Amino acid sequence: MNNTIQANQHLVLIVDDERLNRIRLRLLLEKEGYQIVEADNGKEALIVFQESHPDLVLLDAMMPEMDGFDCCAQLLSLDFSKYIPVLMITGLEDRQSVDRAFAAGAIDYVTKPIYWPVLRQRIKRLIEQSQLQQKQEIIAQELQQLVIIDELTQVANRRKFEEYFAQEWRRMAREQMPLSLILCDVDFFKSYNDTYGHRAGDRCLQKVAQAIQDCARRSIDLVARYGGEEFAVILPNTNAEGANQVAQAICFAVKMLAIPHRSSQVSSHVTVSAGVATIIPHPGSDFEQTILAADRALYQAKSIGRDRVFTETS
Ligand code: GH3
Ligand code: MG
Ligand code: MG
Repeated sequence: MNNTIQANQHLVLIVDDERLNRIRLRLLLEKEGYQIVEADNGKEALIVFQESHPDLVLLDAMMPEMDGFDCCAQLLSLDFSKYIPVLMITGLEDRQSVDRAFAAGAIDYVTKPIYWPVLRQRIKRLIEQSQLQQKQEIIAQELQQLVIIDELTQVANRRKFEEYFAQEWRRMAREQMPLSLILCDVDFFKSYNDTYGHRAGDRCLQKVAQAIQDCARRSIDLVARYGGEEFAVILPNTNAEGANQVAQAICFAVKMLAIPHRSSQVSSHVTVSAGVATIIPHPGSDFEQTILAADRALYQAKSIGRDRVFTETS
């Protein structure tokens, strides 16, 4: 009884051009508590598969229009189908068909006449395995995110910054294209914490991070939390002028957040200062130089009044 309730949640797609075969399988599977959807050829199977996202597919090999081998290959090329087991069922027993089924990505192969006690166990096992794999993949993805994302602000962390900057440095060196780096630092943030409390400071950093993220829109741009209240923006394939524009946009966007800051000496709202450095890297040269250049530019932006951008010209 317990088994039935468990299995009940699972959906099986039966693909067979012979109605009687589908009915037989449907009755057997329904008795086990599975839900069933059907298709009578490969093309229809693709449609039903995408609509219903089954947990397992029972696929006849010989069908008109599109045979099971082609259908299997196409099903498994869909991005959500990665762990969905496709079980080929066919009357063919020749070696070539077996090879074709596996080449198309079928997880297993059953021949007609179907021996139900075995198929029943196989279906159960395959669904269990696939669900376990899907769970493991989700956990792996979550872990991967934890390793590279800053918990407070949800932008990339320092580790990701280092890795991505080195990677893009090498790529820009190969392509001889400009790589820009912006370092942004919240102005008078110590006094913000002192005035509004550390938790308000945390919320402020979250909003600032989001505002910076919104200014770096290309998929190859990376926003990272570089240190306490300092953020870095890596802009590959971006010259000094482009980077300056992004940095100006960041300063403006943070100001537009209109977060009150009564102890700031430059504004009644939270502001940031930004230092920009741009380089066309030479193979073998040191990327630390660019970080130092951006840091010097940031220092300049701070010393000439804060709430502004300074671009290092080399
Ligand atoms: P400046 O305008 O020169 O940048 O001055 P500042 O006060 O922003 O710079 P300073 O480096 O003196 O102070 C940075 C402050 O940022 C001190 C630190 O407590 C605070 N801070 C760093 N990380 C966090 C954090 O995660 N949360 C909060 N709330 N505050 C943080
Ligand atoms: Mg600061
Ligand atoms: Mg700082």
